[in-house]
Amino acid sequence: MRKPIIAGNWKMNKTPEEAKALVTELKPLVKDANCDVVVCVPAVNFAAVKEAAKGSKIKLGAENVHWAKSGAFTGELSADMLKACGVEYVIIGHSERRQYFGETDKTVNQRVLAAVEAGLKVIMCVGENKEEREAGYTDALVEYQTLIGLNGLTKEQVAKIIIAYEPVWAIGTGLTATDEQANETIGVIRAAVARKYGKGTANKVRIQYGGSMNPKNVKGLMAQPEIDGGLIGGASLKAPDFSQVVNYDK
Ligand code: PGA
Repeated sequence: MRKPIIAGNWKMNKTPEEAKALVTELKPLVKDANCDVVVCVPAVNFAAVKEAAKGSKIKLGAENVHWAKSGAFTGELSADMLKACGVEYVIIGHSERRQYFGETDKTVNQRVLAAVEAGLKVIMCVGENKEEREAGYTDALVEYQTLIGLNGLTKEQVAKIIIAYEPVWAIGTGLTATDEQANETIGVIRAAVARKYGKGTANKVRIQYGGSMNPKNVKGLMAQPEIDGGLIGGASLKAPDFSQVVNYDK
């Protein structure tokens, strides 16, 4: 069975002091979690989160990574730099990166390859926008994003990837995909992985839902057979909310 994984995506929020306060508050609230617990945070908060999370189940993640080892890429961070700061997980291809920073399926793939090579655990995001859903392209699009994003990895590497299915129209909007919609599209993603890498591999890949997931809707979503966790934006910024999502099974 796949172990569920709940990850926070803080986006561009929190100073180191605020990060320390949040993780310190969160720590006792998630100590009995049955899932993997990750917080993906701005790089300026790595040290504060690492320190505050010591002795807890909370693992540190980054929100992006560059594909090059080093060099003339102003403003970017390499996988080795993240590793050296104690980062274990990294989000790649978030829709905000695609929408505002020109991220493409090709650069997502390059980043995935670099992160895996460095030994980071990847949370690769895919998902359709409103127009694409209404035009009936959801399945084709998420299959394409998934297979291009994973291209060049071995079966064994693919089995360890975490995919986050995040319908763009549900991110930060308060609109959630219905439990069944999310389950169905995640099933489509898993089937695409199975066709290319085999059923055994596809059954190991953990696929999260993301997009306005919160304490109220988490139970229903997590009850779906294909959904292995969540990538949580807004509701990860307050310890009581995030801990309720993490403790969805209690
Ligand atoms: P949200 O964000 O939970 O605020 O919708 C999710 C995400 O963007 O990862």
